[in-house]
Amino acid sequence: MPHQPITVAGVEVFPLCDAVGPMGEAIRRPLAELFPGADHGDSDEWVLHFHCYLLRDAAGRTVLVDTGVGPEGSPASSWAPVPGALGAELARVGVAAEEIDAVVITHLHSDHASGAVIDGLPAFPNARHVLQRAEIETAAETVLDTVVRPLGERVHVVEGRADVFPGIRILHAPGHTPGHQVVQVGDLVLTGDLVLHPVQLADPSVTYLYDDDPGLAVVTRTKLLEQVEAERGMIATAHFAEPFTRLGG
Ligand SMILES: [Zn+2]
Ligand SMILES: [Zn+2]
Repeated sequence: MPHQPITVAGVEVFPLCDAVGPMGEAIRRPLAELFPGADHGDSDEWVLHFHCYLLRDAAGRTVLVDTGVGPEGSPASSWAPVPGALGAELARVGVAAEEIDAVVITHLHSDHASGAVIDGLPAFPNARHVLQRAEIETAAETVLDTVVRPLGERVHVVEGRADVFPGIRILHAPGHTPGHQVVQVGDLVLTGDLVLHPVQLADPSVTYLYDDDPGLAVVTRTKLLEQVEAERGMIATAHFAEPFTRLGG
């Protein structure tokens, strides 16, 4: 059952379910190790969804948020379920890769960035690819070689807050990675890996094993979630089973 779109502040938001599955052996850990101190009840296996989102504003401009796990053999294939279904999901909502105007990569982890460059070529050839300067400056050479450099002049570097198009805004949300960013549309925030698992909604101070700077991630997560909650807004998550979660309702 495909995930259903919503419209927020005049922008259509299509969840694209790129993949579903547990982490592979390379990085799989019990939930109690991934999210120490959280109440996991009886569950110990984490079955992740891998969501990208397509935004289409009233003028028909399209923004893809994250590019998924990529094809067989992609950098994510060591631990994530590949191949990703992003291409099929875009086809399902009627948008061709060439029609994407902008791509926002929330951060350069392999399950968010691996669909941007396929076989050494940009998968979204007419899109500018928006990344935070801090993310590029701290990226590993292999990531620069496989994702950033092949995009060439399509890379659009921003620092902090920036508008992709009017009403579609990027906010720097560091901690998970130094240049992690989220996207805000009206009262909706597309959270990338700001929030990985629902236990972090119950308690935003729950850290994640693979956060670069867990302390900073807690500060960023707590502040942003408080803002969304105060507005009774929604988040659109990368890895929850359901794409949209309303807060403070
Ligand atoms: Zn899904
Ligand atoms: Zn990540």
